[in-house]
Amino acid sequence: MKEKIASPKKTREIINQYNFVLQKKYGQNFLIDEYVLNKIIEAANITKEDMVIEIGPGIGSLTQYLAENAREVVAVEIDKQLIPILNDTLKEYDNIEIINEDILKLDLNPLIKEKNNNKPVKIVANLPYYITTPIIMGLFEDEVPIDSITVMIQKEVAQRMQAEPGTKDYGALSLAVKYYSKPYIVANVPQNCFIPRPNVDSAVIQLKKYEKPIIEVQDKKLMFQIIRASFNQRRKTMLNSVSNQLDIDKEKVKLTLEKMDKPTNIRGEALTLEEFALFTEILTHLNG
Ligand code: SAM
Repeated sequence: MKEKIASPKKTREIINQYNFVLQKKYGQNFLIDEYVLNKIIEAANITKEDMVIEIGPGIGSLTQYLAENAREVVAVEIDKQLIPILNDTLKEYDNIEIINEDILKLDLNPLIKEKNNNKPVKIVANLPYYITTPIIMGLFEDEVPIDSITVMIQKEVAQRMQAEPGTKDYGALSLAVKYYSKPYIVANVPQNCFIPRPNVDSAVIQLKKYEKPIIEVQDKKLMFQIIRASFNQRRKTMLNSVSNQLDIDKEKVKLTLEKMDKPTNIRGEALTLEEFALFTEILTHLNG
């Protein structure tokens, strides 16, 4: 590999050379740890066949590793101050395209159609932590063709994504992620692997997307409304939260739980994704 961007020395050098002022509002914490970068590349299983989309390349620390291993990298960066820097730090690579856009506003579908024949891409990133959930849910909900998402995120959020029923971390996010993908925490990453150091711990998580949903549910929107209502007030029973928040007849909710052989004082945290789907199906039929 050409000289690595991701060393503490080189990172400081680039920041100083361009008088770059780090933007806290964009969650800019640059990776400086080679071991972690190799771990990300290895987990993402990138080959010369792959098109990779990186969200937030920063000064190019991870982009460089991606370009070495992938066929093509498209990197989407919101901060226009970083574009000339990236054009310079990555100038030796001819398989990188840098797009100056807000990932939350960019439709990736036409890009993947044009550049990858609509075949699934790999998403790899050290995400800006302030928008982790909207980015990931946006990718899933917009039905972007994705093979896997391998990303650095805040450790607590990674734990919530991977959490199982009955644990304190289990919630609406765990269920949304599990509906679309199989989560796996690849590594925990301490604060000293970044410049500047973030004030939270981090983890690399991989979400391997299912080719088709693992559960069947007619009214997906209602299922996620029920899930959100069940966890909005965690300490309340499902009977109360669902009937009050979604304005559904309490008797119908009670009957649904009884048909599922569940106690009527059960809380959302005890239900699996399959059970939320079943709950939704039964309730829909009672309403219908
Ligand atoms: N990939 C680099 C690294 O690992 O060193 C930088 C990671 S840094 C945690 C997050 C990056 O995302 C920053 O470069 C930031 O400017 C960029 N970013 C923040 N919000 C964004 C958005 N809405 N769309 C695209 N990029 C964004």
